[in-house]
Amino acid sequence: MILLVIWDGLRPDMVRSDYTPYLHRMAREGAFCRAGHAAFPSATRINAASLSTGCYPCAHGIVDNEMYAPAVDAQKAISCADWRALEGMARSEEARLLGVPTLGELLQRAGRRMVAGGSGSPGTTYLINPTVTGPVVNWAVAWPQAAEEMLVARYGGMLAQTSSSSERNRFVLRALCEVFIPTQRPDVIVLWLTEPDHSQHYHGLASPEALAMLRELDADLEGLVAYLEGLCGADGLTCILLSDHGFESVAGHADPDRELAEAGLKRAPDSNEIVRASNSLWLTGAARERVRDVAHFMAEWPWVGSVFVRDDLLTHVPDAMPQSAVWGGHPRAAQVMFSYRASAQPNGEGVPGSVVISGEGSLVATHGSAGRYALNNALIAWGRGVKKGIISDVPCGIVDVAPTVLHLLGLEPPAHMAGRVLHELLDDGPPPEALAVTTSAREAIYRTPNARRHQVAHYSHAAGRAYLDQVTSSVDAHPSAKGSST
Ligand SMILES: [Zn+2]
Repeated sequence: MILLVIWDGLRPDMVRSDYTPYLHRMAREGAFCRAGHAAFPSATRINAASLSTGCYPCAHGIVDNEMYAPAVDAQKAISCADWRALEGMARSEEARLLGVPTLGELLQRAGRRMVAGGSGSPGTTYLINPTVTGPVVNWAVAWPQAAEEMLVARYGGMLAQTSSSSERNRFVLRALCEVFIPTQRPDVIVLWLTEPDHSQHYHGLASPEALAMLRELDADLEGLVAYLEGLCGADGLTCILLSDHGFESVAGHADPDRELAEAGLKRAPDSNEIVRASNSLWLTGAARERVRDVAHFMAEWPWVGSVFVRDDLLTHVPDAMPQSAVWGGHPRAAQVMFSYRASAQPNGEGVPGSVVISGEGSLVATHGSAGRYALNNALIAWGRGVKKGIISDVPCGIVDVAPTVLHLLGLEPPAHMAGRVLHELLDDGPPPEALAVTTSAREAIYRTPNARRHQVAHYSHAAGRAYLDQVTSSVDAHPSAKGSST
Protein backbone atom coordinates (compact mmCIF):
# COMPACT_ATOMS: atom_id res chain seq x y z
CA MET A 1 0.00 0.00 0.00
CA ILE A 2 1.22 3.50 -0.86
CA LEU A 3 0.14 6.55 1.12
CA LEU A 4 0.56 9.96 -0.52
CA VAL A 5 -0.09 12.83 1.85
CA ILE A 6 0.00 16.42 0.66
CA TRP A 7 0.37 19.16 3.25
CA ASP A 8 -0.64 22.20 1.26
CA GLY A 9 2.08 24.85 1.25
CA LEU A 10 4.60 23.06 3.50
CA ARG A 11 8.12 24.41 3.05
CA PRO A 12 11.00 21.97 3.53
CA ASP A 13 12.50 24.21 6.22
CA MET A 14 9.31 23.81 8.32
CA VAL A 15 10.17 20.11 8.81
CA ARG A 16 11.97 20.42 12.15
CA SER A 17 12.07 18.36 15.33
CA ASP A 18 10.36 21.17 17.26
CA TYR A 19 7.66 21.92 14.61
CA THR A 20 6.79 18.47 13.25
CA PRO A 21 8.46 15.87 15.51
CA TYR A 22 6.94 12.78 13.88
CA LEU A 23 7.55 13.88 10.29
CA HIS A 24 11.06 15.01 11.19
CA ARG A 25 11.79 11.56 12.63
CA MET A 26 10.40 9.86 9.50
CA ALA A 27 12.50 12.20 7.32
CA ARG A 28 15.61 11.11 9.22
CA GLU A 29 14.70 7.43 9.09
CA GLY A 30 13.69 7.54 5.41
CA ALA A 31 14.56 9.91 2.58
CA PHE A 32 14.41 13.70 2.79
CA CYS A 33 14.59 15.62 -0.51
CA ARG A 34 15.80 19.16 -0.10
CA ALA A 35 15.62 20.05 -3.81
CA GLY A 36 11.91 19.58 -4.53
CA HIS A 37 10.35 21.60 -7.34
CA ALA A 38 6.74 22.64 -7.82
CA ALA A 39 5.29 23.44 -11.23
CA PHE A 40 4.91 27.12 -12.16
CA PRO A 41 2.71 28.97 -11.24
CA SER A 42 3.56 27.72 -7.73
CA ALA A 43 -0.11 27.44 -6.78
CA THR A 44 -2.40 24.68 -5.67
CA ARG A 45 -4.58 23.61 -8.59
CA ILE A 46 -1.75 23.65 -11.14
CA ASN A 47 0.24 21.37 -8.88
CA ALA A 48 -2.73 19.14 -8.08
CA ALA A 49 -2.92 18.39 -11.80
CA SER A 50 0.86 17.89 -11.98
CA LEU A 51 0.70 15.43 -9.10
CA SER A 52 -2.14 13.45 -10.68
CA THR A 53 -0.59 13.34 -14.18
CA GLY A 54 3.20 13.46 -13.71
CA CYS A 55 3.11 16.30 -16.27
CA TYR A 56 3.43 20.08 -16.41
CA PRO A 57 0.69 22.59 -17.37
CA CYS A 58 1.78 22.50 -21.04
CA ALA A 59 0.38 18.94 -21.13
CA HIS A 60 -2.32 18.76 -18.44
CA GLY A 61 -3.88 22.14 -19.20
CA ILE A 62 -4.53 23.50 -15.69
CA VAL A 63 -2.51 26.60 -16.45
CA ASP A 64 -3.35 28.77 -13.44
CA ASN A 65 -5.33 28.78 -10.20
CA GLU A 66 -8.03 30.74 -12.02
CA MET A 67 -8.63 30.34 -15.74
CA TYR A 68 -10.49 32.24 -18.42
CA ALA A 69 -13.10 30.03 -20.07
CA PRO A 70 -15.34 32.45 -22.01
CA ALA A 71 -17.93 29.76 -22.78
CA VAL A 72 -18.46 29.43 -19.01
CA ASP A 73 -18.05 33.11 -18.07
CA ALA A 74 -17.07 35.78 -20.60
CA GLN A 75 -16.60 38.50 -18.00
CA LYS A 76 -14.10 37.03 -15.59
CA ALA A 77 -11.94 34.01 -14.92
CA ILE A 78 -13.39 30.88 -13.35
CA SER A 79 -11.93 29.68 -10.08
CA CYS A 80 -10.36 26.25 -10.35
CA ALA A 81 -11.51 25.76 -6.74
CA ASP A 82 -14.99 25.26 -8.27
CA TRP A 83 -15.15 21.72 -9.67
CA ARG A 84 -18.34 22.43 -11.61
CA ALA A 85 -16.65 25.34 -13.39
CA LEU A 86 -13.73 23.05 -14.29
CA GLU A 87 -16.17 20.49 -15.67
CA GLY A 88 -17.99 23.24 -17.57
CA MET A 89 -14.74 24.40 -19.14
CA ALA A 90 -13.87 20.90 -20.34
CA ARG A 91 -17.42 20.36 -21.64
CA SER A 92 -17.36 23.63 -23.57
CA GLU A 93 -14.15 22.51 -25.27
CA GLU A 94 -15.51 19.01 -25.89
CA ALA A 95 -12.25 17.87 -24.31
CA ARG A 96 -10.95 16.13 -21.24
CA LEU A 97 -10.30 18.34 -18.22
CA LEU A 98 -6.73 17.00 -18.06
CA GLY A 99 -5.03 16.45 -21.39
CA VAL A 100 -3.09 13.38 -20.27
CA PRO A 101 -3.99 10.20 -18.37
CA THR A 102 -4.09 10.43 -14.59
CA LEU A 103 -2.47 8.19 -11.98
CA GLY A 104 -5.98 6.99 -11.09
CA GLU A 105 -6.63 5.97 -14.69
CA LEU A 106 -3.26 4.25 -15.10
CA LEU A 107 -3.81 2.32 -11.87
CA GLN A 108 -7.32 1.31 -12.94
CA ARG A 109 -5.99 -0.01 -16.28
CA ALA A 110 -3.53 -2.14 -14.32
CA GLY A 111 -6.29 -3.48 -12.06
CA ARG A 112 -5.15 -1.41 -9.05
CA ARG A 113 -7.31 0.73 -6.80
CA MET A 114 -6.93 4.30 -5.58
CA VAL A 115 -8.97 6.25 -3.06
CA ALA A 116 -8.53 9.98 -2.58
CA GLY A 117 -9.53 12.64 -0.09
CA GLY A 118 -8.97 16.37 0.08
CA SER A 119 -9.81 19.00 2.67
CA GLY A 120 -9.04 21.92 0.36
CA SER A 121 -11.43 23.28 -2.23
CA PRO A 122 -13.68 20.83 -4.09
CA GLY A 123 -11.81 21.80 -7.29
CA THR A 124 -8.42 20.82 -5.88
CA THR A 125 -9.79 17.52 -4.60
CA TYR A 126 -11.51 16.81 -7.93
CA LEU A 127 -8.21 17.33 -9.80
CA ILE A 128 -6.66 14.41 -7.90
CA ASN A 129 -8.88 12.04 -9.88
CA PRO A 130 -11.35 13.87 -12.15
CA THR A 131 -12.50 10.74 -13.96
CA VAL A 132 -13.34 9.22 -10.55
CA THR A 133 -11.71 5.83 -11.04
CA GLY A 134 -12.19 5.34 -7.29
CA PRO A 135 -13.96 7.20 -4.47
CA VAL A 136 -12.90 10.84 -4.06
CA VAL A 137 -13.92 12.60 -0.85
CA ASN A 138 -14.01 16.29 -0.08
CA TRP A 139 -15.60 17.95 2.96
CA ALA A 140 -18.33 19.52 0.76
CA VAL A 141 -18.85 16.87 -1.89
CA ALA A 142 -17.83 13.32 -2.78
CA TRP A 143 -17.60 11.43 -6.05
CA PRO A 144 -19.27 9.29 -7.28
CA GLN A 145 -22.69 10.30 -5.97
CA ALA A 146 -23.01 6.96 -4.18
CA ALA A 147 -19.93 7.81 -2.11
CA GLU A 148 -21.50 11.07 -0.98
CA GLU A 149 -24.77 9.29 -0.13
CA MET A 150 -22.81 6.82 1.99
CA LEU A 151 -21.14 9.67 3.91
CA VAL A 152 -24.37 11.59 4.40
CA ALA A 153 -26.04 8.43 5.75
CA ARG A 154 -23.16 7.76 8.14
CA TYR A 155 -22.28 11.25 9.33
CA GLY A 156 -25.60 13.05 8.86
CA GLY A 157 -24.34 15.31 6.06
CA MET A 158 -21.27 16.89 4.54
CA LEU A 159 -19.64 19.91 6.21
CA ALA A 160 -20.89 23.49 5.97
CA GLN A 161 -18.98 26.34 4.34
CA THR A 162 -18.37 27.74 7.84
CA SER A 163 -16.35 24.68 8.92
CA SER A 164 -12.73 25.21 9.96
CA SER A 165 -9.80 23.64 8.16
CA SER A 166 -9.22 21.39 11.20
CA GLU A 167 -12.80 20.13 10.94
CA ARG A 168 -12.37 19.57 7.19
CA ASN A 169 -9.12 17.67 7.70
CA ARG A 170 -10.73 15.43 10.32
CA PHE A 171 -13.86 14.81 8.23
CA VAL A 172 -11.86 13.63 5.22
CA LEU A 173 -9.51 11.57 7.38
CA ARG A 174 -12.46 9.84 9.09
CA ALA A 175 -14.24 9.21 5.77
CA LEU A 176 -11.13 7.52 4.39
CA CYS A 177 -10.27 5.48 7.51
CA GLU A 178 -13.81 4.50 8.52
CA VAL A 179 -15.42 4.02 5.11
CA PHE A 180 -13.30 3.92 1.97
CA ILE A 181 -9.99 2.34 3.00
CA PRO A 182 -11.59 -0.64 4.81
CA THR A 183 -14.07 -1.31 1.98
CA GLN A 184 -11.79 -0.64 -1.01
CA ARG A 185 -8.47 -1.95 0.32
CA PRO A 186 -6.73 0.45 -2.09
CA ASP A 187 -3.21 0.12 -3.49
CA VAL A 188 -2.80 3.90 -3.37
CA ILE A 189 -4.29 6.45 -0.97
CA VAL A 190 -4.02 10.16 -1.77
CA LEU A 191 -4.82 12.54 1.09
CA TRP A 192 -4.58 16.27 0.34
CA LEU A 193 -4.77 18.36 3.52
CA THR A 194 -5.38 22.09 3.12
CA GLU A 195 -2.99 23.16 5.87
CA PRO A 196 -0.54 24.75 6.69
CA ASP A 197 -1.59 26.80 3.63
CA HIS A 198 -4.45 28.70 5.30
CA SER A 199 -2.70 29.42 8.58
CA GLN A 200 0.44 30.58 6.73
CA HIS A 201 -1.59 32.80 4.38
CA TYR A 202 -3.38 34.60 7.21
CA HIS A 203 -0.87 34.44 10.08
CA GLY A 204 2.54 34.03 8.44
CA LEU A 205 5.31 31.48 8.12
CA ALA A 206 6.36 30.09 11.52
CA SER A 207 3.63 32.15 13.22
CA PRO A 208 2.20 30.61 16.43
CA GLU A 209 -0.99 29.74 14.50
CA ALA A 210 0.90 28.03 11.66
CA LEU A 211 3.09 26.10 14.12
CA ALA A 212 0.03 24.94 16.08
CA MET A 213 -1.47 23.69 12.82
CA LEU A 214 1.75 21.88 11.91
CA ARG A 215 1.67 20.08 15.27
CA GLU A 216 -1.93 19.05 14.64
CA LEU A 217 -1.11 17.76 11.15
CA ASP A 218 1.89 15.91 12.54
CA ALA A 219 -0.16 14.11 15.20
CA ASP A 220 -2.84 13.21 12.63
CA LEU A 221 -0.18 11.83 10.28
CA GLU A 222 1.30 9.64 13.01
CA GLY A 223 -2.18 8.29 13.79
CA LEU A 224 -2.97 7.61 10.12
CA VAL A 225 0.31 5.77 9.51
CA ALA A 226 -0.22 3.64 12.64
CA TYR A 227 -3.73 2.77 11.43
CA LEU A 228 -2.49 1.77 7.95
CA GLU A 229 0.40 -0.26 9.41
CA GLY A 230 -2.26 -2.12 11.37
CA LEU A 231 -3.95 -2.98 8.08
CA CYS A 232 -1.00 -3.95 5.90
CA GLY A 233 1.92 -4.35 8.33
CA ALA A 234 4.78 -1.90 8.85
CA ASP A 235 6.73 -3.56 6.02
CA GLY A 236 3.80 -3.29 3.61
CA LEU A 237 3.44 0.50 3.61
CA THR A 238 5.29 3.17 1.62
CA CYS A 239 4.65 6.77 2.69
CA ILE A 240 5.34 9.87 0.62
CA LEU A 241 4.63 13.22 2.20
CA LEU A 242 4.93 16.25 -0.03
CA SER A 243 3.66 19.75 -0.57
CA ASP A 244 2.28 21.34 -3.70
CA HIS A 245 4.44 24.47 -3.48
CA GLY A 246 6.53 26.52 -1.07
CA PHE A 247 5.60 29.89 0.43
CA GLU A 248 6.79 33.49 0.59
CA SER A 249 5.97 36.34 2.97
CA VAL A 250 4.21 39.36 1.52
CA ALA A 251 6.63 42.27 1.21
CA GLY A 252 4.62 44.72 -0.90
CA HIS A 253 1.48 45.31 -2.91
CA ALA A 254 0.84 46.05 -6.57
CA ASP A 255 -2.31 46.77 -8.55
CA PRO A 256 -1.80 45.49 -12.10
CA ASP A 257 -5.41 46.10 -13.17
CA ARG A 258 -5.26 49.75 -12.21
CA GLU A 259 -1.82 50.15 -13.82
CA LEU A 260 -3.06 48.57 -17.05
CA ALA A 261 -6.11 50.84 -17.08
CA GLU A 262 -4.06 53.96 -16.34
CA ALA A 263 -1.77 53.06 -19.22
CA GLY A 264 -4.78 52.88 -21.53
CA LEU A 265 -4.36 49.15 -22.18
CA LYS A 266 -7.83 48.47 -20.76
CA ARG A 267 -10.83 50.76 -20.29
CA ALA A 268 -11.25 50.17 -16.56
CA PRO A 269 -9.55 48.00 -13.92
CA ASP A 270 -12.45 45.51 -14.03
CA SER A 271 -13.22 45.56 -17.76
CA ASN A 272 -12.80 42.33 -19.63
CA GLU A 273 -10.63 43.19 -22.63
CA ILE A 274 -7.77 42.10 -20.37
CA VAL A 275 -8.91 39.46 -17.86
CA ARG A 276 -6.30 39.24 -15.14
CA ALA A 277 -6.40 36.34 -12.74
CA SER A 278 -3.55 35.04 -10.58
CA ASN A 279 -0.46 35.03 -12.84
CA SER A 280 -2.33 35.38 -16.13
CA LEU A 281 -3.44 38.16 -18.48
CA TRP A 282 -6.00 36.94 -21.02
CA LEU A 283 -6.47 39.40 -23.89
CA THR A 284 -9.89 39.37 -25.50
CA GLY A 285 -11.47 41.11 -28.51
CA ALA A 286 -9.43 43.98 -29.92
CA ALA A 287 -6.95 43.67 -27.03
CA ARG A 288 -5.64 40.47 -28.65
CA GLU A 289 -3.70 42.74 -31.00
CA ARG A 290 -1.87 44.27 -28.02
CA VAL A 291 0.16 41.26 -26.87
CA ARG A 292 3.44 43.06 -27.45
CA ASP A 293 2.25 46.26 -25.72
CA VAL A 294 0.96 44.32 -22.69
CA ALA A 295 4.06 42.11 -22.40
CA HIS A 296 6.35 45.12 -22.69
CA PHE A 297 4.26 47.13 -20.24
CA MET A 298 4.51 44.35 -17.65
CA ALA A 299 8.24 43.97 -18.35
CA GLU A 300 8.82 47.60 -17.34
CA TRP A 301 7.49 47.22 -13.80
CA PRO A 302 9.95 46.59 -10.98
CA TRP A 303 7.25 44.69 -9.00
CA VAL A 304 7.04 42.17 -11.81
CA GLY A 305 9.54 39.35 -11.38
CA SER A 306 9.10 37.72 -14.77
CA VAL A 307 7.01 37.87 -17.95
CA PHE A 308 6.21 34.97 -20.27
CA VAL A 309 4.48 35.03 -23.65
CA ARG A 310 2.61 32.05 -25.07
CA ASP A 311 4.84 30.30 -27.58
CA ASP A 312 2.50 30.67 -30.57
CA LEU A 313 2.65 34.48 -30.16
CA LEU A 314 6.42 34.90 -30.04
CA THR A 315 6.50 36.29 -33.57
CA HIS A 316 4.67 39.33 -32.11
CA VAL A 317 7.09 39.67 -29.17
CA PRO A 318 10.38 38.19 -30.37
CA ASP A 319 12.35 39.37 -27.32
CA ALA A 320 10.02 37.62 -24.84
CA MET A 321 10.68 34.53 -22.75
CA PRO A 322 8.25 31.85 -23.97
CA GLN A 323 5.90 30.11 -21.55
CA SER A 324 7.52 26.82 -22.56
CA ALA A 325 10.60 27.99 -20.62
CA VAL A 326 8.54 27.32 -17.49
CA TRP A 327 6.65 24.35 -18.98
CA GLY A 328 3.55 26.33 -19.83
CA GLY A 329 2.20 27.36 -23.21
CA HIS A 330 -0.91 25.17 -23.32
CA PRO A 331 -3.63 26.47 -25.68
CA ARG A 332 -5.74 27.32 -22.59
CA ALA A 333 -2.98 29.56 -21.23
CA ALA A 334 -3.25 33.34 -21.19
CA GLN A 335 -1.32 35.12 -23.92
CA VAL A 336 0.81 36.82 -21.27
CA MET A 337 1.74 35.33 -17.90
CA PHE A 338 3.85 36.91 -15.22
CA SER A 339 5.21 36.41 -11.73
CA TYR A 340 5.39 38.97 -8.96
CA ARG A 341 8.90 39.86 -7.82
CA ALA A 342 10.35 37.61 -5.15
CA SER A 343 13.41 38.06 -2.95
CA ALA A 344 15.21 36.34 -0.07
CA GLN A 345 14.12 39.03 2.44
CA PRO A 346 13.07 37.32 5.70
CA ASN A 347 9.84 37.84 7.62
CA GLY A 348 9.63 38.86 11.30
CA GLU A 349 10.24 35.26 12.39
CA GLY A 350 13.47 35.16 10.36
CA VAL A 351 12.03 32.89 7.66
CA PRO A 352 13.57 33.92 4.31
CA GLY A 353 11.61 34.51 1.11
CA SER A 354 9.32 37.42 0.24
CA VAL A 355 7.13 38.46 -2.64
CA VAL A 356 4.88 41.24 -3.91
CA ILE A 357 1.14 40.53 -4.07
CA SER A 358 -1.76 42.16 -5.89
CA GLY A 359 -4.35 44.19 -4.02
CA GLU A 360 -4.56 45.15 -0.36
CA GLY A 361 -5.98 41.87 0.98
CA SER A 362 -5.39 40.33 4.37
CA LEU A 363 -2.81 37.76 3.26
CA VAL A 364 0.55 38.05 5.01
CA ALA A 365 2.17 35.23 3.05
CA THR A 366 1.43 33.62 -0.28
CA HIS A 367 2.75 31.58 -3.22
CA GLY A 368 2.40 31.52 -7.00
CA SER A 369 5.61 33.26 -8.00
CA ALA A 370 8.63 31.95 -9.87
CA GLY A 371 10.77 32.70 -6.81
CA ARG A 372 12.87 29.92 -5.32
CA TYR A 373 11.06 29.84 -1.96
CA ALA A 374 7.68 29.39 -3.68
CA LEU A 375 8.94 26.79 -6.18
CA ASN A 376 10.79 24.68 -3.59
CA ASN A 377 8.28 22.14 -2.27
CA ALA A 378 8.77 19.46 0.39
CA LEU A 379 9.17 15.75 -0.40
CA ILE A 380 9.83 13.04 2.18
CA ALA A 381 9.48 9.28 1.72
CA TRP A 382 9.80 6.33 4.10
CA GLY A 383 8.75 2.75 4.51
CA ARG A 384 8.66 -0.15 2.08
CA GLY A 385 11.10 0.20 -0.82
CA VAL A 386 12.63 3.49 0.42
CA LYS A 387 16.26 3.91 1.44
CA LYS A 388 16.89 4.55 5.11
CA GLY A 389 18.50 7.68 6.49
CA ILE A 390 19.33 9.64 3.36
CA ILE A 391 19.21 13.34 2.57
CA SER A 392 19.03 13.98 -1.15
CA ASP A 393 20.03 17.20 -2.87
CA VAL A 394 19.30 15.70 -6.28
CA PRO A 395 16.67 17.88 -7.96
CA CYS A 396 13.25 16.31 -8.04
CA GLY A 397 9.72 17.56 -8.43
CA ILE A 398 6.02 17.06 -7.98
CA VAL A 399 5.86 15.58 -11.51
CA ASP A 400 8.11 12.73 -10.30
CA VAL A 401 5.62 11.42 -7.76
CA ALA A 402 3.21 9.67 -10.15
CA PRO A 403 5.96 7.78 -12.05
CA THR A 404 7.59 6.81 -8.74
CA VAL A 405 4.29 5.45 -7.39
CA LEU A 406 3.78 3.39 -10.57
CA HIS A 407 7.32 2.03 -10.29
CA LEU A 408 6.81 1.07 -6.65
CA LEU A 409 3.80 -0.98 -7.75
CA GLY A 410 5.82 -2.71 -10.48
CA LEU A 411 4.21 -0.69 -13.30
CA GLU A 412 6.09 1.05 -16.10
CA PRO A 413 5.48 4.83 -16.12
CA PRO A 414 4.28 5.97 -19.56
CA ALA A 415 6.84 7.76 -21.74
CA HIS A 416 4.75 10.94 -22.02
CA MET A 417 5.22 11.73 -18.32
CA ALA A 418 7.50 14.70 -17.70
CA GLY A 419 8.53 13.26 -14.34
CA ARG A 420 10.93 10.41 -13.63
CA VAL A 421 11.15 7.58 -11.16
CA LEU A 422 13.08 8.83 -8.13
CA HIS A 423 15.40 5.81 -8.15
CA GLU A 424 17.92 7.54 -5.90
CA LEU A 425 15.44 7.35 -3.02
CA LEU A 426 14.60 3.68 -3.53
CA ASP A 427 16.27 0.50 -2.32
CA ASP A 428 16.90 -0.63 -5.89
CA GLY A 429 18.46 2.67 -7.02
CA PRO A 430 21.87 4.36 -6.87
CA PRO A 431 22.82 6.59 -3.93
CA PRO A 432 21.87 10.25 -4.50
CA GLU A 433 25.57 11.21 -4.58
CA ALA A 434 26.04 9.00 -7.65
CA LEU A 435 23.75 11.19 -9.77
CA ALA A 436 25.31 14.05 -11.70
CA VAL A 437 23.60 17.36 -10.99
CA THR A 438 24.18 20.30 -13.32
CA THR A 439 22.65 23.73 -13.74
CA SER A 440 21.77 25.90 -16.72
CA ALA A 441 20.17 29.26 -17.45
CA ARG A 442 18.05 30.73 -20.22
CA GLU A 443 17.91 34.46 -20.78
CA ALA A 444 15.57 36.96 -22.36
CA ILE A 445 16.12 40.68 -22.74
CA TYR A 446 12.98 42.76 -23.14
CA ARG A 447 13.69 46.10 -24.80
CA THR A 448 10.61 48.17 -24.14
CA PRO A 449 9.94 51.87 -24.80
CA ASN A 450 10.89 52.81 -21.22
CA ALA A 451 13.09 50.05 -19.84
CA ARG A 452 15.35 47.10 -20.43
CA ARG A 453 14.53 43.90 -18.54
CA HIS A 454 17.09 41.13 -18.24
CA GLN A 455 15.23 37.98 -17.22
CA VAL A 456 16.92 34.65 -16.45
CA ALA A 457 15.29 31.25 -15.89
CA HIS A 458 17.54 29.03 -13.74
CA TYR A 459 17.34 25.25 -13.98
CA SER A 460 18.94 22.29 -12.31
CA HIS A 461 19.27 18.96 -14.11
CA ALA A 462 19.47 15.34 -13.03
CA ALA A 463 18.79 11.97 -14.64
CA GLY A 464 17.87 13.55 -17.96
CA ARG A 465 15.29 15.94 -16.52
CA ALA A 466 15.35 19.72 -16.05
CA TYR A 467 13.75 21.46 -13.07
CA LEU A 468 12.91 25.15 -12.77
CA ASP A 469 14.72 26.58 -9.71
CA GLN A 470 13.62 30.21 -10.11
CA VAL A 471 13.31 33.07 -12.55
CA THR A 472 15.23 36.23 -11.69
CA SER A 473 15.36 39.60 -13.41
CA SER A 474 16.72 43.09 -13.31
CA VAL A 475 15.01 46.13 -14.79
CA ASP A 476 16.87 49.24 -15.86
CA ALA A 477 15.18 52.37 -17.06
CA HIS A 478 15.81 52.75 -20.76
CA PRO A 479 18.24 55.61 -21.48
CA SER A 480 15.62 57.23 -23.71
CA ALA A 481 12.85 56.92 -21.12
CA LYS A 482 11.21 60.03 -19.80
CA GLY A 483 12.73 61.17 -16.53
CA SER A 484 15.62 58.72 -16.53
CA SER A 485 19.00 60.02 -15.52
CA THR A 486 22.13 59.48 -17.55
ZN1 LIG B 1 -1.48 24.89 -2.23
